[in-house]
Amino acid sequence: MKNLIKYSITYFFWTVLFVYAQAPYSLSRLPYGYKDLEPYIDEQTMIIHHTKHHQAYITNLNKAIQGTEAEKLSLEDLLKNISKYPASVRNNAGGHYNHALFWTILTPNKNTSPSKRLSDAIQNHFGNLDSLKSLMNREAMNRFGSGWVWLSVDENKKLFVSSTPNQDNPMMDVADKRGTPILGIDVWEHAYYLKYQNRRGDYLAAIWNVINWEEVSKRFELLVPKGKFDDWPEIKEFHKVMAQTFHPSEEGNLEPIKTRSGEMAEKAKKLMASKIPAEFDKKEIRASVKKLAIESEKLHKMVQKKAPDEKIKKSLSDLHDVFHTIVGLCSGEQHQH
Ligand code: MN
Repeated sequence: MKNLIKYSITYFFWTVLFVYAQAPYSLSRLPYGYKDLEPYIDEQTMIIHHTKHHQAYITNLNKAIQGTEAEKLSLEDLLKNISKYPASVRNNAGGHYNHALFWTILTPNKNTSPSKRLSDAIQNHFGNLDSLKSLMNREAMNRFGSGWVWLSVDENKKLFVSSTPNQDNPMMDVADKRGTPILGIDVWEHAYYLKYQNRRGDYLAAIWNVINWEEVSKRFELLVPKGKFDDWPEIKEFHKVMAQTFHPSEEGNLEPIKTRSGEMAEKAKKLMASKIPAEFDKKEIRASVKKLAIESEKLHKMVQKKAPDEKIKKSLSDLHDVFHTIVGLCSGEQHQH
């Protein structure tokens, strides 16, 4: 009897393990209830979309890769090399990845908003959040048939909007524009037909009410790590003028510094008046910042008095050294222009 129980337990254990090993992908629960996104996305659509459509992509993906080398790859690595695989893998791997992402970037919580850093990036790339939404809506409306519209980060850490057909996505090596999506909107009819029928535009207008900007921001910030001087814009401003005047002067072109010495003195003054972020607020750095302000002013006077080129060049070079003391003290590493 004891042996039988022991045998049964062992058998059960290996069966479960075997079944799991056979099926690398499985459906995760939603982080909210099926009717929580109402009135924007209705309960029935959510149930069918999650338990039927998404589940089908997973079932078919497991089937398509069973016994192939694709089983050993992570989903992301599979997508990045998708051109090597048949359509059944492409459609279902995409279908699983896209929907898994989609559920996480939706939320019943109202009033989520992009983080400061994502918000700044959106402003830089698209003007403002509303123009980003219009651009994505336009791409979604122009997507003929089924597909997705994406906000992604490319390899240069730049944001871009794109749309892909079927279950493709920007991570795939077959995509026109490649990157890592941080926000994706499903524009297959199965995502909206029960409530909105053929009115894709109404669905698009509604879905922005349930976008989880906290999750989108988290994804953005993982892909685009904070820059060392992001909280000290004045040093970046000074750096710009320094980089654009010092390097030409090294090559014998003093025109840039002669036309911009006033601007440089101005930026150095603003740098001295700026609030130094706590992590950089050291005695040596404060001293160097002060020196930058004084020496920049001297250099500006020199330029105004039409001092000999050699003197101007030497003064700028000294200033550049002081600047690097600050950056060097901050980072402990060689600063790149
Ligand atoms: Mn879908």
